[in-house]
Amino acid sequence: MTANTHRKTPVTLLGLGAMGTALARTWLAAGHPLTVWNRTPARAEALAAEGAKVADSVAEAVAASTLVVVCLLDDASVGTALDGADLTGRDLVNLTTTTPAQARARAAWAEERGARYLDGGIMAVPPMVGIPEAGGYVFYSGSRELFELHRESLAVPVGTAYVGEDAGFAALHDVALLSAMYGMFAGASHAFALIRGEDIDPVAFAPLLGDWVRAMVGPMVDGTARGLASGAYDDSESNLAMQVAGTPTFLTTAEEQGVSPELIRPYFELMRRGLAASGAGEGTTSLVDLLVRKG
Ligand code: NDP
Repeated sequence: MTANTHRKTPVTLLGLGAMGTALARTWLAAGHPLTVWNRTPARAEALAAEGAKVADSVAEAVAASTLVVVCLLDDASVGTALDGADLTGRDLVNLTTTTPAQARARAAWAEERGARYLDGGIMAVPPMVGIPEAGGYVFYSGSRELFELHRESLAVPVGTAYVGEDAGFAALHDVALLSAMYGMFAGASHAFALIRGEDIDPVAFAPLLGDWVRAMVGPMVDGTARGLASGAYDDSESNLAMQVAGTPTFLTTAEEQGVSPELIRPYFELMRRGLAASGAGEGTTSLVDLLVRKG
């Protein structure tokens, strides 16, 4: 060990799947003393050769460092792995993808066991980890004090974004962004299906589609946010009456092209409901409120 190694915060990492292994390598490369545990020990062998200490049990791994990072498959595997481990005095940072409610329950669970808790939602895939230019980051929520204390160590693999004391907020931000991503994927899949079977090169079509989506999504996101914040939903340029009037063109085109409307029809139905509920002058911002189930 070098003198530099001694100055870096020791880290314990539970979970050496694709993501855990990528995280581990960055802490090793940055000189953090790293203890790892994985249910299937063979997955730790390469890291051992790179300088990680491999613990034989969760208890041994948790005892090795105050900062214990968990990156397992799901909340159930976190419960299984940590069941019976002594978490007293540990700083538990859970990067496992969960629901907000699971994160809040896990925070209470950890605190009952004498640990401080921080939840994380990873906005990166393994090849982005350790590459700052790739733009990956982790949403953190829970104890701000804990986040500030470990900010430097947590920033080693990817960037950090603290989003509040509520332990569920990291998961909520994570799921919200990924849900929007799936909506965009759905739109792009439908667009490619429309041109499939025609003499249109999908590779030539791709930049047209990508540029259009990029041009539309930014103003839509900003305009919706401003409307929700101010309560002024007026959108006279692209109001719902105009948009609903256009939907038969989209549905008929899908039919003509032999494409299932299953991805776009639900949004059109929501627009129709919005028009009936709020009138022609409102734009798509009012649809956000229609989605929220009351009570
Ligand atoms: P992997 O499937 O590669 O690895 C899963 C890990 O969980 C392995 O270490 C596995 O151990 C362990 N595990 C599963 N079940 C149990 C259990 N019952 N008890 C103990 N350990 C268990 O997943 P990733 O590493 O890719 O993902 C880890 C987390 O990171 C997930 O929550 C995922 O959503 C999140 N994430 C992943 C991203 C990605 O692109 N990979 C992107 C963003 C977030 P074993 O080796 O023994 O099977």
